Amino acid sequence: MQREQQQPVLITGSTSGIGLAIARTMARAGYPVMLHGLATSDQGEDLRRQFRADYKVDCGFSSADISSEAGCAQLLAETREVLGNPGILVNNAGVQYTAETQDFPAEQWHTILSINLSAAFFLTRDLLPSMRAGNWGRIVNISSVHGLVASEQKAAYCAAKHGLIGLTKVVALENANRGITANAICPGWVETPLIQPQIESIAREENIDIESARCRLIGAKQPLSQTSKPEAIGELVLYLCGDFASTITGAALPVDGGWTAQ
Ligand code: NAD
Repeated sequence: MQREQQQPVLITGSTSGIGLAIARTMARAGYPVMLHGLATSDQGEDLRRQFRADYKVDCGFSSADISSEAGCAQLLAETREVLGNPGILVNNAGVQYTAETQDFPAEQWHTILSINLSAAFFLTRDLLPSMRAGNWGRIVNISSVHGLVASEQKAAYCAAKHGLIGLTKVVALENANRGITANAICPGWVETPLIQPQIESIAREENIDIESARCRLIGAKQPLSQTSKPEAIGELVLYLCGDFASTITGAALPVDGGWTAQ
C-alpha cells in the first residue's frame, strides 16, 4: 500500500545513542518524530527545537518512564497529543546490568525485563488497533545479538532480547496481509554510552588503558573488530519503513561484524 504522507514515528529511548541516531535519520528523511527518554524537560525542549530547526519536521518529546504499563500509556498519550497515532513504532529503549546468574539482583532482573521487553509489548499492543485501522504500520524492535546468542553475566538482558525476537515474530504473523510488518534488528557492538561501563570494567580489571579495553571487548566476540555506527542502525530502520521492505516481516537482522556467523 502506498502512503500519501510520511507517518509519525515514535522512537523510545531516543535521547541518546542508537535511538537518537534513528530519530535523526528518520527526521532527515522527513518523518515527524516523537523523541523520548530519561532527560529533563529543558534537555528535551532543546533537542526538540534542534530537530525542528535542522530537519523542518514536527517533533515532540516525552520523558515518560516506560518501566511500567502506566508509563507506556503516558508516552502514548503524549505522542498522540503532539503527532496523532504513530504509524511507526521503534522499540529501542534498553538498559544493561551484568552479574553471574547466581548473584543477579531481583530488582535488576525486573528492571531489565520491564524496559527491554514489557514496554515493547505494551506499546505494540496499544498501537496495533490504529495501525490495523489504517492498513499500514511498521514495528521495529531493537534487540541485540544477545537475542540470538548468549554471553555470560547477561541473564536478564539475554532473556529480554530473546523474548523481544519472539514477540516480533508473533506480531508479524498476526498482522501479515494487513500492511503491518514487525522486525527485529540485532546489533553487535555499537559505540554508545551503554557499553562504556563494560569497557571501563575491563580496563580496571586488566589494568589497561581504555582504548586497549575497547579492542579487548570487541575482539572477544566480533571477527570484524570494529563497532557499528549508531547511524547504521538508523539507516536500516529507514529501509524497513520504506516500500521495498513491505515483504520483510518477522525477521531478526544482525548488524554484528560476523559475531553470530560463528
Ligand atoms: P543508551 O544508554 O545510549 O540509550 C538508552 C536510551 O533508553 C536513553 O534514551 C534512555 O533515556 C532510555 N531509557 C532507559 N531507561 C528508560 C526508562 N526506564 N524509561 C524511558 N527511557 C529509558 O543505549 P544504546 O546503546 O543506544 O541502546 C539502545 C538499544 O540498543 C538498547 O535496547 C540496547 O539494548 C540495544 N543495543 C545496544 C548495543 C550497543 O552496543 N550499544 C548493542 C546491541 C543492542
